[in-house]
Amino acid sequence: MELVVQKFGGTSLTDEQSRSHVLRHIIREFAAGSKVVVVVSAMGRSGDAYATDSLLELIRRNGDALAPREKDLLLSCGELISAAVLCSLLLAEGIPSVALTGGQAGIVTDDRYGSARIVEIDCARVHRHLTAGEVVIVTGFQGRTKDGEITTLGRGGSDTSATALGAALRADIVDIYTDVDGILTADPRWVTNARPLAAVSYEEICNMAQNGAKVIHPRAVELAMKAGIPVRVRSTFSDGEGTLVTHAQALRSQGIWYDKAVTGLAHVRDVTQLAVTDLDGPADLQLRVFRAMASHGISVDFINVMPTGVHYTVAENDAPLAVELLRELGFEPRVRRECAKVSVIGGGMNGEPGVMAIIVEALTGSGIPILQSADSNTTIWVLIPQKDLAAALQALHTAFGLHLSPVGGN
Ligand code: ADP
Ligand code: MG
Repeated sequence: MELVVQKFGGTSLTDEQSRSHVLRHIIREFAAGSKVVVVVSAMGRSGDAYATDSLLELIRRNGDALAPREKDLLLSCGELISAAVLCSLLLAEGIPSVALTGGQAGIVTDDRYGSARIVEIDCARVHRHLTAGEVVIVTGFQGRTKDGEITTLGRGGSDTSATALGAALRADIVDIYTDVDGILTADPRWVTNARPLAAVSYEEICNMAQNGAKVIHPRAVELAMKAGIPVRVRSTFSDGEGTLVTHAQALRSQGIWYDKAVTGLAHVRDVTQLAVTDLDGPADLQLRVFRAMASHGISVDFINVMPTGVHYTVAENDAPLAVELLRELGFEPRVRRECAKVSVIGGGMNGEPGVMAIIVEALTGSGIPILQSADSNTTIWVLIPQKDLAAALQALHTAFGLHLSPVGGN
């Protein structure tokens, strides 16, 4: 008997109509004889009554007065509502089901309220309900500490709940249901002709997620990868197969994937580039700069270290503090605000000649300057002015023929 974990995101649960689609997917799986564990997010997005952002809005004026413990109590409510409502829908259809909080489902976390990490999962109770023939609905995004306190896992936490439960239960598959047809070649809000991919490797989607593709949380992918549990990202609103995510080797052996040089694009906005050049400066200039950033919790990216100085980027929010710190060190950095980082990602990029040439040609051909670049075995990053982001994504998408890939992308 198959054990399937299905995760439904906020947009899949927004209203009665979308919940009827959710119900359809659960019932299909249950009727096929699978054991089904359902992980739910809070209903809807910012502005919807029970969405996580709307709950936060309730304490906007006095949120700072609330201790993190109590803030997590509030934040955990959205998923509770989803779980109970979904349970009522299943019971009304005659499907035996039970709703559990993350804690009741055995998810134990540390006590970092707001961004807790899962330390263990005791699956006994979930197994008991599954064995009794029930669909088990679990609130995503949350767990409990050893002392029984409710914690939340941070943004993208429901994805993490789903793959962590999948790993602990040794599920056959974790299905991440969302509002798009799968993992697309680029963010569809920016590239209108982005296409769904039939399959990607864990490494590729991890790269995409870490570089800004919000379709699945990178921590969730890492957990699935470690446990070797396949994941499918698919649409709640259609019956498509979605995108299969598993080990590159497994994809190759199934003959459904080959090592394409470029699989997809991802991007991060609101980046500031800082350049510190001081020909006569201290020998330990680089060290001093990065120590100052690290000691203030500013994460740095796109680092180019040269004998005469350093170039790097920080998130726009961190830029004022970063500049202040550099000035305190006696440097006058060159500051370039409103940049975006575009990532060109492909598991088969390594050793494939000409990828960088295509990128340069596509961007400069569209009059877009490349402010900085870097590369690894599977990714080439370019920094560009943010105002050119849409044009850059579209130009690269076209240059690599990503719009042409047959649905399935292979
Ligand atoms: P959910 O509520 O289901 O968790 P999310 O908003 O977290 O939904 O994730 C789905 C969204 O991710 C899509 O609506 C899409 O706009 C965005 N997205 C960004 N990059 C990609 C990509 N490469 N492929 C698919 N979706 C992407
Ligand atoms: Mg999400």
